[in-house]
Amino acid sequence: MPAPRSPRALNDSTALDLALPDTIQQRLGAPKPVVLVLGSTYEEATAPTLDRLGCRRVTTTTANAMDVAASLGNFSFVFVEPEAMADEEGIYLVRDLHALSPNATIVLTGASSTLDSKVLVDAMRAGVSDVVDPTDAIALSKAVDNSLVAASARAERVLAIGAHPDDVEIGCAGTLLDHRRRGDSVSVLTMSHGQVGGDVGQRIQESTATAQTIGARLMLADLPDTRIDSGVDTIQMIESVVQAFDPTIIYVHSKNDNHQDHRAVHTAAISASRRVPQIFAYQSPSATNDFAPTKFVAIDEVVVRKVEVLSLFDSQRERSYLEPEMVIAGARYWARNLAPRARYAEPFEVIRSMSAPPTRTARPVTAAAPLAPVVAINDGQKVPT
Ligand SMILES: [Zn+2]
Repeated sequence: MPAPRSPRALNDSTALDLALPDTIQQRLGAPKPVVLVLGSTYEEATAPTLDRLGCRRVTTTTANAMDVAASLGNFSFVFVEPEAMADEEGIYLVRDLHALSPNATIVLTGASSTLDSKVLVDAMRAGVSDVVDPTDAIALSKAVDNSLVAASARAERVLAIGAHPDDVEIGCAGTLLDHRRRGDSVSVLTMSHGQVGGDVGQRIQESTATAQTIGARLMLADLPDTRIDSGVDTIQMIESVVQAFDPTIIYVHSKNDNHQDHRAVHTAAISASRRVPQIFAYQSPSATNDFAPTKFVAIDEVVVRKVEVLSLFDSQRERSYLEPEMVIAGARYWARNLAPRARYAEPFEVIRSMSAPPTRTARPVTAAAPLAPVVAINDGQKVPT
């Protein structure tokens, strides 16, 4: 197990764009999509377009590409210079980048007419999807924009809800980091400032730093720590976030938990999320022996980063459940359910798991293109209404 690297902020956030009531503070917007530019030849040519599209540009060399890409946690688009594909190293690099962030678009820079056909075929087989001439601003803009729109339509929208500032991260930071690695959109909603467990200002700062490191939006409610109830006020707060963010997956506390705030947030979240297709309950250190997970998410690729994330909760450093050894041991234990395919895992109780339509599009369903035809019953006779 490599030692955790020093923590750092990993994303520039976009504007705070969700329409939320005054009871919910949006602390951090969604991270900007990251575009990796390998090699500096086209750095200047691509910059204006990428800036206009609201992307964060990261320029590096092919030699450092994997280290930089791994530390980013997520990237949406990669420019590779054709010279890098001249030998096997380049082919391996594209394959590794593809494995690291499976939904990222990887393109070769240059005009396709000038590229060697063997280089082009090898690149396509490795995972390159297109060739873009970076000096053609219109083609460049179209390629990046289309790719970001398609990736956004494919992405899951993940909402993780916790009662206190470190709950979500302890329970499912690995899974959230893995969602980000795959290009999914992640939001964290914390229902209190955790004033009983430490200085409020410090706890909010720690929450912000961890959300930045994960690459998540952060929303904070200010319910009284240790006295959160599951009533209509809490339900309405969670409902407002569900309406604004429209999640496809929710992670929340289990009801099998000794902490009254955790049980209350679980109950309120279930009431507020009636239309969300997938809800899973994570394990807290205060979970009871009745916590009975049946879903296990492999976090091998991100377990070191989960330890990094938890190390940011400096105000809670005396808590034994935040010790790296405990975090790693827990993840190792739960991976027995996935052995031998995974070494580290996070456990979840399945509250709801409904399949979604195979594809989502940005277009609304219209009368001209309904989801499915109305099926006639009663031998074709009209059903009385
Ligand atoms: Zn808690």
